[in-house]
Amino acid sequence: MTQPEWHPTYESPDDDIALLFAPWGPVARLLGQGYRPRRGQALMARLVKRAVDEAQHALIEAGTGSGKSFAYLIPLIWTRTKAFVSTANKTLQTQLWEKDLPALAQIAPHPIEAALLKGRSNYVCLLKLEEQRRQPRLLATDTEDSTAALLERLETVPSGDTETLRLYGDLRDSVVAGRHDCAGHQCPFFHNCYYEQAKAAAEEADIVVLNHALLAYNLALEQQFLSPRDVVIVDEAHELERYVVNALRLSLDYIAVPGLINDPVVAGNVPERVRRQAVQANHELFQFLGEIGGNAEERRWTMDGELQPAMALVGHLQQIHRELQRTVPPANSQEEDQESARHQAVLEWTTGLVNEITQLAQTEPEDQVRYCESWTGDTRPDDLSLQREPLDVAGFLTEKLFDTTKTVICTSATLTVNQRFDYLRRQLGVPERQDGTVIERNIQSPFDFQEQTLLYTPFGLVPQFGEAEEDYMEKLTFEVHRLLRASRGRAFVLCTSNRRMRQLYDALWSELPYNCLRQGMASRADLLEEFKSSSEGSVLFATRSFWEGVDVPGDALSMVIIDKLPFAPFRDPVYKRREERIRQTGGNPFSEVSLPEAALTLKQGVGRLIRSETDRGVMAILDSRINTARYGKLMIASLPPARRTTRFEDVSAFFQQQ
Ligand code: SF4
Repeated sequence: MTQPEWHPTYESPDDDIALLFAPWGPVARLLGQGYRPRRGQALMARLVKRAVDEAQHALIEAGTGSGKSFAYLIPLIWTRTKAFVSTANKTLQTQLWEKDLPALAQIAPHPIEAALLKGRSNYVCLLKLEEQRRQPRLLATDTEDSTAALLERLETVPSGDTETLRLYGDLRDSVVAGRHDCAGHQCPFFHNCYYEQAKAAAEEADIVVLNHALLAYNLALEQQFLSPRDVVIVDEAHELERYVVNALRLSLDYIAVPGLINDPVVAGNVPERVRRQAVQANHELFQFLGEIGGNAEERRWTMDGELQPAMALVGHLQQIHRELQRTVPPANSQEEDQESARHQAVLEWTTGLVNEITQLAQTEPEDQVRYCESWTGDTRPDDLSLQREPLDVAGFLTEKLFDTTKTVICTSATLTVNQRFDYLRRQLGVPERQDGTVIERNIQSPFDFQEQTLLYTPFGLVPQFGEAEEDYMEKLTFEVHRLLRASRGRAFVLCTSNRRMRQLYDALWSELPYNCLRQGMASRADLLEEFKSSSEGSVLFATRSFWEGVDVPGDALSMVIIDKLPFAPFRDPVYKRREERIRQTGGNPFSEVSLPEAALTLKQGVGRLIRSETDRGVMAILDSRINTARYGKLMIASLPPARRTTRFEDVSAFFQQQ
């Protein structure tokens, strides 16, 4: 009689968590025949469990295809650990909430207590909805119909989530609470508020899926709206710094003051003359900022000293505040309650604006930078915004996140530069632990990059500006053209500037027999959809916003071309100030920031290419400095380990084999 084969299984938290990923384990059962155990995934699960058990932080780079979401969710779920799981982009958040967690619920040893939490403006605000319902004079006819339909749909969508309700456009804007118009505890709907209910559900849940914007905002508040957790998983951790800077940034857009002035509460209670004066002062401030920007060769520029026009605007807003204080309505009935709550919210909004503009008017502290930014490159007042932000957020994150949380696990496919985590540590303020180091591990992608990928780095293309630019552009265009012919389209041309993207697109779209798309022609989602579905091979010309978070598995994307090494624009005043600060503290801004930042961006860009085990393709980096400059070696070492060539003939042969 043959003995049945013995397979060890995971039964208690003392067992090896990797057993859950074994060929006979529950993950294999869940995923069926297509399942292939990945050593990296099991290893990552072990590391996550160890970090949680030993209250350590962990930095885990997990190459594309490692299956990192199961690798961190499974240890959390099986050990009933309460945790925040934060993502940068919506695609991953949706994947966790709609795919991974429901799938794991089928094999988990107990029900999973999980909640999804988004920012306030992702839920219908009952106070604003009621205002819309009660004041038809404010509504366009079709909006009135839609409001009635929305009330009906809300019966079947208990979360009040605008995405589930498929609520878009003007109607959405009119029924969600913006940054300034939530009445908080004074709101008569507070106890039924969708957002408040989502927060309460998050407090109860074991696992809360949220995004970096919300995580950062929560950390930045004196009184956090979510109680801290012992464990925080930061997926797409290379993005965290950007969101923290956003959360700590003071910002004034041209439309902020008109937004307040046109609010029905202000329009109904403040004399028109006072409102007009504020709008005029706002215009004068932005006109003044535009004049400082001159011809706006750069999109951002700094300014010195106190901004007098900003202080003048503050004076007018204070006048509005006084008028609003004078007209606070009584609250004796439900209707008056609602009016009073909205009035209070607008009063707080005005106070907030006065405080922010007052701070923006002052010379900034040494660890911050104040600048004006133009969205379009134009200096028209309504294209501008005035901002102030910290030069680095490492100290903030050390204090608010790493020192107050037992285990923070930062993961992503792009965390290391030349296999080292030094840059990430400096950027995020990851502390050294006195009793040992923070866990650090680089888990290789299961893909065979040597077999699947060719890295092409030709000689003879060094970016030029000024007089030499025309010749350079000719060479660059020629190179991009012949590459696109070789690949039969099916390519992203990722540029480091809008200007370069337009130049290449304008020069090539009519020369190529492929469907040529350019960023800005349609929404990002529509462009990607068209790119994927086109049968004759598409080419997408794009800039930084397509360098990450884009997933096109299969033949539709067979080449990624990068025009130039993605160093930050050296004349940008914000980068300049950062560099100055590093120099002042004895550091080297090029090796500590510029180079690692460019290496990581490059890694993200070429990372768009290979998204599955069967993908094949060419990464073409058309900046010869990667072959000749000393730092080129470090950049190459940071990329996936592809075969490498400097000869166009090899690229041609690669595509002929397909
Ligand atoms: S508390 Fe009231 S005002 Fe604030 S979001 Fe909820 S319903 Fe709207």
